[in-house]
Amino acid sequence: KRPDIATPLRTRAIMNTYGIAVKKSLGQNFLSDPNILTNIVDAAEVTESDDVIEVGPGIGALTEQLARRAKRVLAFELDQQLLPVLADTLAPYPNVTIVNADILKVDLASAIAEHLPGATSVKVVANLPYYITTPILMGLMNAAVDFASIVVMMQKEVAERLSAVPGTKAYGALTLAVDYRMQAKLAFTVSRTAFIPQPNVDSAIVKLTPRAPLTELPFDEAALFHLIKGCFAHRRKSLWNNLQSLFGKAPATKAVMAETLDDLALEPSIRAERLSLAGFIALTNRLHERGV
Ligand code: SAM
Repeated sequence: KRPDIATPLRTRAIMNTYGIAVKKSLGQNFLSDPNILTNIVDAAEVTESDDVIEVGPGIGALTEQLARRAKRVLAFELDQQLLPVLADTLAPYPNVTIVNADILKVDLASAIAEHLPGATSVKVVANLPYYITTPILMGLMNAAVDFASIVVMMQKEVAERLSAVPGTKAYGALTLAVDYRMQAKLAFTVSRTAFIPQPNVDSAIVKLTPRAPLTELPFDEAALFHLIKGCFAHRRKSLWNNLQSLFGKAPATKAVMAETLDDLALEPSIRAERLSLAGFIALTNRLHERGV
């Protein structure tokens, strides 16, 4: 029996056999620590009733662990040079399908209908290419698919922003964009030494699960995120200053904004990082009702 793909020895052997020249531009850092892979699959609570979508299988280290526990695995890999490698390393796992595609261009609902017919519980588990973490996450959360969970590895600093609470430095527009859609929890961190080649950042696993329904919805999603972006435009300035940059300093506008803040019991001097998602939604809606 061959050792796991993820062992450092086998990872190096595979890279040598296929003459794999790592593409930094595609964020290729191969996880080569079987224990960490087990912990990722555990965090995702993958069982044989789950189908799993993986982004960027690389040489198949995580794919292999997923294939052993899931019903089926559907993995999207952009790099053509890795296709023959994956065909070999994953040959023992008939429940794996590899699709050569850019994940940012994949219609996930159609891909699931095509490759995972009859799927009832679909989870995403991936060690993401870090250069496109945010667009991939947004694509997954905005897809017309209700994922049971999304468990992904990313740069530690980004993981901290995703799971930040109000009032902290890491809390910002990205935190709120995720919080609007799913509940984020930082599961555990991973040292850069667990990868071949070593990246120059540490990593962390974030688990996203369906969030409790919002008590108040924004009248318009784009308006909510326009407001959030504007309120964090100058992080060190007050909410009041950012609102004036966003909506203007006309006396009538300022009067309405002041009245709205007063209504919501918000001190004009507070900073945006103090405001929760519910706070931003309320602010968006109350300003809109008053014609701002
Ligand atoms: N899953 C492997 C592991 O854990 O060792 C590899 C992870 S590596 C950090 C990221 C992988 O994503 C690479 O295999 C890379 O080629 C692939 N990738 C990069 N951009 C991609 C894209 N736009 N669509 C699909 N895969 C992509």
